[in-house]
Amino acid sequence: MIISDFRIPTSTFKILRRIVFPPKCLSCSRFFHPPDSDAGDVARNAGGPTDSVPLSLQRQADRLLSVCLCQACIRGLVAVESPICDRCGLPLNSRQGGDHRCGECIREPKNYRIARAPLIYEQILTRLIHCFKYKGKVQLAKPLADLLLTAFRLFWEPDSIDLVLPVPLHMKRFRGRGFNQAYLLVCNWNILGGQFPHRPAPLQIERNLLVRTAATVPQSALGRAERAVNIKNAFELNSPDKVKDKRILLIDDVYTTGATVNECTRLLLNRGARHVDVLTLARAV
Ligand SMILES: [Zn+2]
Ligand SMILES: [Zn+2]
Repeated sequence: MIISDFRIPTSTFKILRRIVFPPKCLSCSRFFHPPDSDAGDVARNAGGPTDSVPLSLQRQADRLLSVCLCQACIRGLVAVESPICDRCGLPLNSRQGGDHRCGECIREPKNYRIARAPLIYEQILTRLIHCFKYKGKVQLAKPLADLLLTAFRLFWEPDSIDLVLPVPLHMKRFRGRGFNQAYLLVCNWNILGGQFPHRPAPLQIERNLLVRTAATVPQSALGRAERAVNIKNAFELNSPDKVKDKRILLIDDVYTTGATVNECTRLLLNRGARHVDVLTLARAV
């Protein structure tokens, strides 16, 4: 039958779907029309051999998140830009000079080597991460993972990391939420990154190596000093031998005071890791 040969081209179908069912902005809840370009391609191409002029981190974040945010909310996203603290990644007030050590990192040196994040944890991103973690909008995992991968490629050579560890949730919280947001941000990196062509093997991403053994009070409910006490000795390793002499990248959604990643780092270094770096989606200032 003739009708069986009828096919709507995928691109036309996508356009029709957007017109009939426009997405809702996950920050302000307004319906909006996302731009036509396939934002997902941006991260895959970023820094690749075909790119003559790489886009700025701000432009890449804007394009990647344009699938879930309206243009008004996109304008509220703020990329982390130099000058930053060369250790903890904090954006520095002084716009003069290059990256240098912040006062806090001089007073209390961190256990990890460097911490970086693509975006500042302001209002729009706070709402987006809230939707992802607490409202079960797991469709956000793809654009957020693309963004985190873009930042990874910007700040690290893929072959400079041996092991990627998402910061774990305690089993009780994991059961309540149904997923670990930090793992969802990184689990598809080898696919999104084209298996990292300059690496001899896929990036090793370990879901259950680092475990949270203490069901602590949520860090968000505590002040700076209390956070460090609350999180002390909250983690353990399933197979300590696996971290020996490894160059490790810790992944989390938000860096607030750094107490959680600093405690994870303390454990990993005690068990023989060579060094530990940190990458989060957002950086509180
Ligand atoms: Zn909006
Ligand atoms: Zn610092």
